[in-house]
Amino acid sequence: MSRSLIGTEAFARSPSVANIMAHTELIDTLADLIRINSINPAFDPAHSEAEVQSFVLDFFKTREMEVWEQLVLPGRANVIARLPGRNPSRRIVFEAHCDTSGVGGMVISPFDPQIKNGRMYGRGACDVKAGLAAMMLAVSDLKKSGQQPLSEVWVVSAVGEEHSFPGVLKLRENLQAAAAVVSEPTEMKMIVASKGCVRWRTIVQGKAAHSSTPHLGTNAIEHMARLVCLLQEQSSHLERLKHPLVGSPTFNVGLIQGGTQVNIVPDSCWIEVDRRLVPGEEPEKVLSDYRELFRGFRASHPGIEVVMEPRALVDRPLETPVDCAVVSHTAQVLKEMGLDPRPYGVPFGSDASKLSAVGIPSIILGPGSIEQAHTVDEFVEIEQVEKAFVVYQRLMKVFE
Ligand SMILES: [Zn+2]
Repeated sequence: MSRSLIGTEAFARSPSVANIMAHTELIDTLADLIRINSINPAFDPAHSEAEVQSFVLDFFKTREMEVWEQLVLPGRANVIARLPGRNPSRRIVFEAHCDTSGVGGMVISPFDPQIKNGRMYGRGACDVKAGLAAMMLAVSDLKKSGQQPLSEVWVVSAVGEEHSFPGVLKLRENLQAAAAVVSEPTEMKMIVASKGCVRWRTIVQGKAAHSSTPHLGTNAIEHMARLVCLLQEQSSHLERLKHPLVGSPTFNVGLIQGGTQVNIVPDSCWIEVDRRLVPGEEPEKVLSDYRELFRGFRASHPGIEVVMEPRALVDRPLETPVDCAVVSHTAQVLKEMGLDPRPYGVPFGSDASKLSAVGIPSIILGPGSIEQAHTVDEFVEIEQVEKAFVVYQRLMKVFE
C-alpha cells in the first residue's frame, strides 16, 4: 500500500483493510517511539525523556512543520508542533505524554517492539506512545494534504506525566486554548470525567518506655491502630456519594510504619493515605475534614500528638460539561466512524484534569486499554492505533 492511503475515506471506513496492506508510517513511528527508552526519571534516574523528545522534534522538522521545545526542567522539555487554522484566535491542543513507567518484571523485551496477532508489544505501547504516534501522524498528514483546519492545532509531546506532572503544569502556564484532547488508553471512548486524588502522611506521636514498664509510655502503634479503624468507619459513608460516571470516592491506607524494636514502647507511628475524589469534591475541603477528624481524635486520647504532614499530592477530579464544543465535535466524529459516541468516566488521573483546572475544556481519548498500561507484557491493538489516527485527524479538521 502506498502511504497516501492513510487518511483517505477508504482508510477511515475500513481501517482494518489498510492495516493489513502495509506497515504504515503510523506503525513504524510507534515502533520507533517504543525503541527509545523514556522511563520517567523518577523511576530510573539514568534515563529521561530527552532522546524521545529529540526524535519527536526531528519528526516534525523533517515534515517542515513549525515545532519548538518548551523547557520544563533541566534536560527535560515539552515538544510542541503547530498547524495554523483558518481562525487564528481558536486553538485545540492534542496532548500525549512521552514518558513511561519502569520496566521491572517485564516478560517481554521492553524496547524491542514486536507485532503479533495484530498487537504491538513493548513498554509504552499503549501508555501512551500509541496515542502520541497517532497524534503526530494525524497532524503531519493533515499538513501534507494541504487542507487547513478550522482552528489552530497543537500537538504536544509532554514530559513527566507518570510522576508529579511537571510537563503539563508548564504547558498550561499562560496557555490559551478552546479545548484539549489528552491521550491515555481509553479504547477510543470519550472520557469527560475522572477521579482526583489526595495523598498525605499522618503521624501519631506517643512516648517511649521500656517494654517491661509499658505503663510509663504511650504506645503510638496502638493509638494508630485505633485511628485507622476510625478512618475506616468514617469512610463507609463514601459509598453513598455516587457520581454517575465515575462511581464513589475511595479511601486506602497504603503504608504504615512504627516502632524501633520489640522491647521498646513505640513513640511514633505513621501512615500514608490515598483518597480518591469524585467530581464535585474539593481537595482542600476533603483535607480539612480529615484535619478536623485528627483534632477530635487527639482531644479524646490524652498523651498523644497527631500530626498531618503537608499534602504529598493533590490532583483535582475532571468533569467536562457534555455540552461544550470538544465533546459535541468528538461525539460527532466517533458516530461517523461507527464508534461509541457516549461520554464516559474513568477512575485514573491524567494530564486532562490539569488543563481543565485552568479553564480549558478537556477530554481523554486514546487507543488501547488501561488494563495493559504498566503491565509486564504491555501491548496495543494496532487497529486501535489506526482508529485513533483517523479520529484525531477528523477532529483536528472540524473543531471550531
Ligand atoms: Zn499514561
